[in-house]
Amino acid sequence: MIEENSGLHAEAAGTEWSYAPAPESLKVEIAEKYGLFINGRFVAPKSHKYFPTINPASEETLSQIAEAGGRDVEAAVAAAKAAQPAWARLKPTERAKFLFRIARRIQERTNELAVLETMDNGKPIAESRNVDLPLVAQHFFYHAGWCDKLKYAFPGRDPKPLGVCGQIIPWNFPLLMMAWKLAPALACGNTCVIKPAETTSLTALRLAEIFREIDLPPGVVNIVTGAGATGQMIVRHKAVNKIAFTGSTEVGKQIAAACADTDKRLTLELGGKSPHIIFENAALDQAIEGAITGIYFNQGHVCCAGSRLLVQESILDEVVSRLRERIKSLRMGDPLDKNTDVGAINSAEQLATVRYYIESGLEEGASIINSSDEPLPERGYWCRPCFFTDVQPSQLIAREEIFGPVLAVMSFRTPEEAISKANNTPYGLAAGIWTDKGSKMFEMAKRLKAGVVWCNGYNLFDPASPFGGYKESGFGREGGLQGLSAYVRM
Ligand code: NAP
Ligand code: MG
Repeated sequence: MIEENSGLHAEAAGTEWSYAPAPESLKVEIAEKYGLFINGRFVAPKSHKYFPTINPASEETLSQIAEAGGRDVEAAVAAAKAAQPAWARLKPTERAKFLFRIARRIQERTNELAVLETMDNGKPIAESRNVDLPLVAQHFFYHAGWCDKLKYAFPGRDPKPLGVCGQIIPWNFPLLMMAWKLAPALACGNTCVIKPAETTSLTALRLAEIFREIDLPPGVVNIVTGAGATGQMIVRHKAVNKIAFTGSTEVGKQIAAACADTDKRLTLELGGKSPHIIFENAALDQAIEGAITGIYFNQGHVCCAGSRLLVQESILDEVVSRLRERIKSLRMGDPLDKNTDVGAINSAEQLATVRYYIESGLEEGASIINSSDEPLPERGYWCRPCFFTDVQPSQLIAREEIFGPVLAVMSFRTPEEAISKANNTPYGLAAGIWTDKGSKMFEMAKRLKAGVVWCNGYNLFDPASPFGGYKESGFGREGGLQGLSAYVRM
């Protein structure tokens, strides 16, 4: 029996049920335009240039964002350099307090930050509020704890900060990537110049407000918004001692080349084509839930998304039939609706990329199963979640990173074949194993060439646990002691 106003509505004669709209009620203030955050203040860009940031679910312009040019990057690096010695000399327990305050303010302003993240990025509010924001706060809390314990983190060594860190992040987890970059750098006594992705600058600028609220010393964090060219200027700047980049493998290679003849430290977190491997003895309900996240979590805009599904042949038909049923239950629509599972694709460019791959899958003879046939909204960037069967490992959809709500399903017969198919990729970011046999898990995990291997679970993150790739998925780790070590010299 469903009570009135319970959020569930009967459609046709009590047989079909759907959710009533549950839009987020919090209204967030957004300024008409934003400057750069340099030396503790918002300043107009010396370039005099601005670009619009839009809501990908409606194509409405949310604000105008400053585009940092050469003189702006110069000012940001100078501010970071000037602030660094005092920040490094600060008593470690005092530095810890700043990180702790940032974490607390993020918790207090969670709703506002989550709504803004969803408006600028397109991801469902349920994700930004329940996944992204708690992880963002945890990351600052965790690193607050390390500030005065660095000597215990690296026993017998004398860890020193690197200096000025240039940090460049993508649009898929704007605040979370920012936390992953800033928290360890600051904990170790470095100062930062960070560039958010062009399409998602708003929450970074909101974080700048938090830095002001908690009186973070000017210059410790500088935020330069802009496009790829702004990122390039940070990478090439001589006074920058370390580059931390998360983004595409293509840009990662360019950055590696630009840093090659310098003494800059470099860490790269790049793309992936991660496999889920389901064995015939797996708990299938759980495995299907894991596999379906590869399709819908953050619209598939996840570097470690399980975007290849390898299923043991004996259970292939059953897995496909369950996936078909499960994908139909995904609710795509207004990202600010609390019941939405699948939001908007972040940009027109990304939507075009995803469509290109879907077309290629069809042309190469794979069969597609879509979440629904309902018409898509007229405005905004939408892509129905889908998966492909009859996929050959040589097809583009099985080889290249799509970064959208698309899964390629393939089969294997033996563990040996699963390993060889799983590792048959230039990437190596993550992998998932589904089996009820512990020995199989360990044996597989040992032989998978992936930075993170999850067993009977997926997309589980913890600031204490290092994250990063093998091969073309990059090098260096973020999180845990390994992540910390990327921000010190010893
Ligand atoms: P992207 O094009 O490589 O951009 C990433 C960042 O680099 C953005 O801030 C971008 O600015 C900037 N940039 C672009 N060209 C640059 C250049 N020549 N020099 C310096 N900076 C430059 O990647 P994306 O399309 O935003 O993000 C998707 C990719 O990120 C996927 O491949 C995904 O797998 C990867 N990713 C990896 C991880 C990980 O942890 N391994 C996490 C998340 C995402 P603009 O935004 O203005 O272009
Ligand atoms: Mg946007």
